[in-house]
Amino acid sequence: MLDIKHVTELIAKVVGEENVKNFEPMSKHTSFKIGGPADIIVSPVTTQQIQRIIGISKSEKIPIFIMGNGSNLIVREKGIRGITVKLFDNFGGCDIEGCTLRAQAGILLSRLSQIALQNGLTGLEFASGIPGTLGGAIAMNAGAYGGEMKDVVIKTEYIDKNGDIKSLEGDMHCFGYRTSFIQKEEGIVLSSELKLRAGDKNEIKALMDDLCKRRNDKQPLKMPSAGSVFKRPEGYFAGKLIEDCGLRGYSIGGAEVSNMHCGFIVNKGNASAGDVIELIEFIKNTVKEKFGVDLQTEVKIIGEE
Ligand code: FAD
Repeated sequence: MLDIKHVTELIAKVVGEENVKNFEPMSKHTSFKIGGPADIIVSPVTTQQIQRIIGISKSEKIPIFIMGNGSNLIVREKGIRGITVKLFDNFGGCDIEGCTLRAQAGILLSRLSQIALQNGLTGLEFASGIPGTLGGAIAMNAGAYGGEMKDVVIKTEYIDKNGDIKSLEGDMHCFGYRTSFIQKEEGIVLSSELKLRAGDKNEIKALMDDLCKRRNDKQPLKMPSAGSVFKRPEGYFAGKLIEDCGLRGYSIGGAEVSNMHCGFIVNKGNASAGDVIELIEFIKNTVKEKFGVDLQTEVKIIGEE
């Protein structure tokens, strides 16, 4: 059985007491503002620290979960057992060489896009409004408005299941629609290189502003959510199918199909993970019954039931 106190002490020796917490509500770490406690949550600052935490998880035989900004997660009410490693701004350095951005996994895409803009580099505008980290975006092959990480990522350094540092180049990333080698193999992204192009700062800014406005007009950004709940089924749009089932504004407990965008589920304030998951199942069944289409979730549902 997991001895939380003992493992926390081991981890604190690696990262310092200030960077590790027990029984931390995941509602504080997810954009949905939902989720029970993580036994142990840790924010490492260096690659060596991450490797040593993996070593502890192996020697103590306890699970490890890697997260970024929690913008694509539904965490169940009983929370996450074992060690949750949060790679966020504590692990978010970035440098530039010519048209190449090299950044650590924890940097936010919004910040990375601003760095690209300030340096007159084009190609990352699509990502400026996606509220995740670089690591989460590589795992998910995040994309929007015709762009995706696949278009810009040329190299990734990661830690594999054995704790070894490896690298991926080009096609080795196996990027697909909201999937990647990293996601399938459960690698831990440490850093990536993004190849951009020299561009005009005014044009880059204008495109970012336009995409930001389109997001603001169409998406319920003022309410907690995890973005689009479902992947786009081939030949359809999930939001349109849900709308055509008459489910706009349909709610279970505190979880509601957004009135603004039916592809989003929003937390009206007091939603539990159970409410959201029940609503997801209801939507899936209704869409299957009416249109014969199997919706698949894009959001990751994790934690103990
Ligand atoms: P998390 O939610 O923390 O984790 C998501 C997955 O990535 C998990 O499986 C996790 O284990 C893995 N992961 C995270 N960090 C790492 C790492 N360093 N190494 C390995 N695996 C890691 N997504 C889009 O693609 N396009 C959009 O336009 C978009 N719009 C959104 C709008 C809103 C309002 C919201 C709330 C979400 C939106 N999303 C969108 C979803 C989300 O922002 C993306 O999926 C994002 O890439 C998730 O990054 P994250 O850092 O938050 O990852």
